[in-house]
Amino acid sequence: MKLFARDALLPTGWAHDVVVDIGTDGAIRGTEIAFTAPTDAEHVQGALVPGMPNVHSHAFQRALAGLTERGGPSADNFWTWRTEMYRFLERIGPDEHEAIATQLFLEMLKAGYTSVAEFHYLHHDPAGRPYSNRAEMALRVRDAAAAAGIHLTLLPVFYAHSDFGGAPPLPAQRRFVHDLEAFRSLFEGLTRQRAETLGIAPHSLRAVTPAELAALIEMARTRPDTPIHIHAAEQRKEVDDCIAWSGARPVQWLLDHAGVDAHWCVVHATHMNADETRRLAASGAVVGLCPTTEADLGDGVFPAVNYLAAGGRIGIGGDSHVGVDPFLELRMIEGAQRLAREKRNVLVRDGESTGLTLYLAALEGGARAVGQPVGAIAAGRRADLLVLDGDDPVLAEQSAANLLDAAIFGPSRRTVRDVMVGGRWVIGEGHHADEEAILLRYRQTMKRLLR
Ligand SMILES: [Zn+2]
Repeated sequence: MKLFARDALLPTGWAHDVVVDIGTDGAIRGTEIAFTAPTDAEHVQGALVPGMPNVHSHAFQRALAGLTERGGPSADNFWTWRTEMYRFLERIGPDEHEAIATQLFLEMLKAGYTSVAEFHYLHHDPAGRPYSNRAEMALRVRDAAAAAGIHLTLLPVFYAHSDFGGAPPLPAQRRFVHDLEAFRSLFEGLTRQRAETLGIAPHSLRAVTPAELAALIEMARTRPDTPIHIHAAEQRKEVDDCIAWSGARPVQWLLDHAGVDAHWCVVHATHMNADETRRLAASGAVVGLCPTTEADLGDGVFPAVNYLAAGGRIGIGGDSHVGVDPFLELRMIEGAQRLAREKRNVLVRDGESTGLTLYLAALEGGARAVGQPVGAIAAGRRADLLVLDGDDPVLAEQSAANLLDAAIFGPSRRTVRDVMVGGRWVIGEGHHADEEAILLRYRQTMKRLLR
């Protein structure tokens, strides 16, 4: 099929009167500039931009959004939130997991995410026993992604300990826990099915020992280009505990011991010193920034200025899904810097568009982190595309060069009109063909969970 767009964001920047040729395999065959539209081309009704990868998701946490916003007996923080989150997930079985994830993935598509890396650690039944199919919960994520039409990178999570130094897991963590042998069987089973892009996720340096981490990296290397994702340095307490355990900070430890390279996505990396920031940028790894979640949990401010100046790569993630909107996440990256520095347009050079710069950075890093050929309107990339909604007053009459600034920094609630994943339209004029049934199932699930 061919698409014709008045404005399209190509790797070289904004171009006008663009024809995008898409093969039956869902990949882009090529692009060209044509002053008149070919007769067989479908005219898109707005500016065409690449769909955004969401590099970090815990789908079930979508159902928790808005349920943890009351003051506690002492100062609330990440750790008190985590206790509430553990209590909530006790009630989530396979059906609930699938219903929540399907609604979430639908919301992601409508907002402009076209692929998602699911950092999946809710493996076992509420008593902590494996389901008769060890991959049951993972398969429900797969089914949810297929039902919504988003492309999935599944990251089965290895989680074995509650703290640095191999401390035994807490009772509340029983649904996450594997030994290496059981995890290997889960990972190899998923590998054989070849159903989605597959990565591997050691949860954090709290949850894996150095020997386990080495075994997981080895497991990842049995397959070419397997992404490795890990949480690191989200909270100051984690940094202090890591120093007490090893003498090193979490990102420093990973750089010194884990062979961090372009296959890695280090999620958060909020608390880094100048040396870690420079070294992580030079490693080729992607930092998975989750700005709405990081703000919600009071994590801190990522050292974005120094990291980007050193050539560091970023992707954006929805994480706990208090925000499901790539434009909002990008706004928050820049916004946190403005608040901290009392300046404007902090993350760009003179004359550059902040919105365009951040959008392109998150596309490139995001594609790398999800391990999929996406993130650009270019030959060989999958046709994951968004049509921006020119009827949104925020975008109306804006020049193409300014569209992403308007989308990211304006008060828009409906930036995206149509969404294509792998050459197939999944959202048309803001709607999904199955959205009513998906929402009904989600409502019924929430009714049970909130009873
Ligand atoms: Zn996370």
